[in-house]
Amino acid sequence: MNILAIGCHPDDLEIACYGTLARFVKEGHKVFACHVANGDLGHVEIPQKELGVIRIKEAQEAAKLIGAEALTLNVSDLSVNSMNEEMNKEMVRLIREVQPDLIITHPTQDYMRDHVEAGLMAFRANFQSSVFHKYPEHQKTAAVVPIYYMDTLAGVDFIPTEYVDISDVIEIKLEALACHKSQIDWMREHDGIDFLDFVRTCSKFRGLQCGVAYAEGFRPCRTWPRLTTKRYLP
Ligand SMILES: [Zn+2]
Repeated sequence: MNILAIGCHPDDLEIACYGTLARFVKEGHKVFACHVANGDLGHVEIPQKELGVIRIKEAQEAAKLIGAEALTLNVSDLSVNSMNEEMNKEMVRLIREVQPDLIITHPTQDYMRDHVEAGLMAFRANFQSSVFHKYPEHQKTAAVVPIYYMDTLAGVDFIPTEYVDISDVIEIKLEALACHKSQIDWMREHDGIDFLDFVRTCSKFRGLQCGVAYAEGFRPCRTWPRLTTKRYLP
């Protein structure tokens, strides 16, 4: 299968679903890790333009670590808008290029609007990618596929209905997260947050719920024609 994970910022996929993506790669699937925004506002000391470049590079390193391909729409932080025609067209193009069998993205309720918009963008653009006359210059369509929503930040107000055991890949998940050095260092030094411990704790909590050491939780998008009798997740 081709798996397309669409996160908002560089590091969001690492936090919520990189264990699952690592397992997909191990099982022989092709994984595309796309972040919509470039993370250019996620720091105070590093200038915006420089930071956008650094963070795209960090995301590429993280993807490489698990054997995924990093993609980005390179949108500036706090500007993600699912109804923006230009962004929508780029996302439709990306989906048509990747030809996914499954999409993983943010649930449409999370702690910041950019996350919500990235989830809505994935939902909207996937349907549009199946309609040939929407951007016919792309000269191809893609199927409407199952969408799985990944966890919210810190799991707040998110009840998973499906779990993936990531016990064997928890260290590589955290290694991938550690590639986002600009964020990890910044949060440790200036906010007193140990983000690696934060994410380990969340994975452990989801593991506790399903009887394994570490897990990631998901919920399927319950709309026609995305529902299936098949188990798509590892
Ligand atoms: Zn984010």
